[in-house]
Amino acid sequence: MTEIWVTFKITEKIPAVGRYKCLVCGLIVEIPQKFIDMGKTFFSCPICHAGTDGGPRGSQEEIWEFLG
Ligand SMILES: [Zn+2]
Repeated sequence: MTEIWVTFKITEKIPAVGRYKCLVCGLIVEIPQKFIDMGKTFFSCPICHAGTDGGPRGSQEEIWEFLG
């Protein structure tokens, strides 16, 4: 089986329900179906603030990894 490595920036639309891990601090968040239905985009990390201008990675860098 092929491992799929998929990472996202906060400007991208959340593609699927499941767990996503912050590439900077390792925080794991669970994305519910509700977010997909609403067409939400990713958000900055609530712990290390990756994805914000003052954080360890900016909004144009990939910070979330899809775990499944
Ligand atoms: Zn983080």
